[in-house]
Amino acid sequence: MSIYEHVKGLVTTREAAEHYALKVNRNGMACCPFHDDHHPSMKLDERFHCFGCGADGDVVDFTARLFDMAPYYAAEKLAEDFGGTRTIVYPPKPRSPEKEIHDVLLEMELLLRKQKRMTAPTDRDTPIPKEYADSCLMYDYIVYQADLFSGGTLLEKQAIIDRMSSGTLDRYKAALQKGEIRFDDVFGN
Ligand SMILES: [Zn+2]
Repeated sequence: MSIYEHVKGLVTTREAAEHYALKVNRNGMACCPFHDDHHPSMKLDERFHCFGCGADGDVVDFTARLFDMAPYYAAEKLAEDFGGTRTIVYPPKPRSPEKEIHDVLLEMELLLRKQKRMTAPTDRDTPIPKEYADSCLMYDYIVYQADLFSGGTLLEKQAIIDRMSSGTLDRYKAALQKGEIRFDDVFGN
């Protein structure tokens, strides 16, 4: 059995989406993370399909696109996140510190994108909500860190690793655990 077949038997697209912080309603519909979607237009079950932008595929395609990973790594991530003790074929590997920072930054990015969407002003006459302004600032900052981490110089990358290992990573993980990121989680000391 390939790792692709293995993870497709392990988890549905809907379960994976919910695990990765996408809000799926009772009918299996969610706001599409792949286009600027304000009303749920993505249907999730075994597979996913977006009626807005046409995105379509299985749980591996979904995860690959969500985390901007190659399909093989997405399948490995799914096996790791959902395998638990049920799998002996692909036992979870301990994450390297770099992989963990990479994953946490991506999860922060995803949750902040959702927070932005949930707090966005609905028309131009209402004042900008503070929560929205905060989410935008945090989002831009995290995306910038993630870009530097994956594409920056060695020095830039090392600076991020140093900062992360002196408390920042734990703060981010605690915020992800809560399912809500506050301004102090990103910009506090
Ligand atoms: Zn879409």
